[in-house]
Amino acid sequence: MKLDTVEERLARVDLTKRVLLLSHCLRPSQNCPGKFDKKGLRCPGDCAEDCVIGRFSRVALGLGYKGVCVAAGGAMALRFVREYSPEGIVAVACDRELVEGVDGVKGLAEAETQVPPIVVVPLAKDGCVDTEVDEEKVLRAIALGAPSELVNSRDERGHP
Ligand code: SF4
Repeated sequence: MKLDTVEERLARVDLTKRVLLLSHCLRPSQNCPGKFDKKGLRCPGDCAEDCVIGRFSRVALGLGYKGVCVAAGGAMALRFVREYSPEGIVAVACDRELVEGVDGVKGLAEAETQVPPIVVVPLAKDGCVDTEVDEEKVLRAIALGAPSELVNSRDERGHP
């Protein structure tokens, strides 16, 4: 019997029951006005920087995601997952954080069958500051299973 891929499993999770985890290292380190608190990096609503974190967050929340965490490390991301109890997760981080984070999320679940699907997009350029990721890949992961009219309305507004 063919098992479903993690992408297929995430696509079946209601958008309002998903969260997006992003690594803070994607921000433009020289110009980012965001400030950290214990829940992660807080972006001011009027931030005008050309920044993938802002774009991914707007798309996810616009599609109905229940939360976005811009985490400085796996422990912060795990606290967020514990608080939000998502049924599906999209995560963008470096290999080390992804391995730690996926293991940590598995550790939170009482049984293997309760582990939410986690679609991971690794960084394309690593290095802890000013990292990069394939933006289209992340946007496709965020929108998995979303009704096409929702995704199209996002495109028509020119919203990346
Ligand atoms: S959108 Fe980007 S640049 Fe602006 S505050 Fe958030 S992380 Fe920093």
